[in-house]
Amino acid sequence: MTRQIHVGGVAVGGGAPVTIQSMTNTPTHDVEATVAQIRRLEEAGCEIIRVAVPDQRAAEAVGAIRAAISIPLVVDIHFDYRLALECVRQGCDAVRINPGNIGGPDRVAAVADACKAKRLPIRIGVNGGSLEKPLLARFGGVTPEALVESAFGHIKLLEDCGFRDICVSLKSSSVPVTMRAYQLMSTKSDYPLHIGVTETGTLRMGTLKSAVGIGGLLALGIGDTMRVSLSADPVEEVRAAREILKAAGVRREGPELISCPTCGRTRVDLIALVGEVEERLKRVDKPITVAVMGCAVNGPGEAAAADVGIAGGVGEGLLFRKGEIVKKVPQERLVDELFALIAEL
Ligand code: SF4
Repeated sequence: MTRQIHVGGVAVGGGAPVTIQSMTNTPTHDVEATVAQIRRLEEAGCEIIRVAVPDQRAAEAVGAIRAAISIPLVVDIHFDYRLALECVRQGCDAVRINPGNIGGPDRVAAVADACKAKRLPIRIGVNGGSLEKPLLARFGGVTPEALVESAFGHIKLLEDCGFRDICVSLKSSSVPVTMRAYQLMSTKSDYPLHIGVTETGTLRMGTLKSAVGIGGLLALGIGDTMRVSLSADPVEEVRAAREILKAAGVRREGPELISCPTCGRTRVDLIALVGEVEERLKRVDKPITVAVMGCAVNGPGEAAAADVGIAGGVGEGLLFRKGEIVKKVPQERLVDELFALIAEL
């Protein structure tokens, strides 16, 4: 089991539930826009939020952002240790910085001491795209071993300062390389792991790559917190993350939607029906399984494990509960009746 760290009030590692993170894409110095986006992300289920801090203006906005949101705030800093110090002063909950890139042991010690004084963890974020040149040369490119070696270089700098509230990520844009890197890391260290695949692409392909990479790791019992990276509205990252956690069987919360693959017995526009139910389920957070089936003959039986479900037909459909038929309903009232039943559960 990994060690446990705390990001604000949220435990990461040591058996705590796997948490969902995302990152804003508004200019961080625009407090109003950033807070508005974080609130939308919170509503979607984001549990830890990260903002990029590229300059002093962004660092100075951190306090106002933190005061206006209720989930922990991680600041993402590259190279400039003074920005990290400013963010710590401003009240961030964690810092993502790679100690090897900030210009020497004194600066690492300054950041480590500032974080230690406020009990803030540091995430080391190794990324295949910015791996150190000597490591690239030694390992012949971005390999799992090179990513892990890079992480240990950064870890050592913090450990030399007596700092151990560390979380590590080892992302690359290759799913197999990323997965092997995390597997390797999990055999060599007990620091909690922030898992994700990076530069995955657009909504569809990015979700698939993340589902394979993150989902695969979760199924192996690896990963303490996660981010799905997508070239899309970050709210989509949070939705995808929730689905991946559910599909990997790691977290059972919120509804799960199952639907039949359709066949020659299908007597209804099932795809439209499922789409409508999926949309309305976004506003339900009960841990239930909801089935949408294509025919009344086999649907209720095939979906007997579902808490509630509907089976579409011509003109009318069935509403069922745990495989037992509750009633027949005119087709156009089917979804409304399903949600009335869900409300009673
Ligand atoms: S529920 Fe009915 S329509 Fe759907 S796959 Fe099964 S038999 Fe076919």
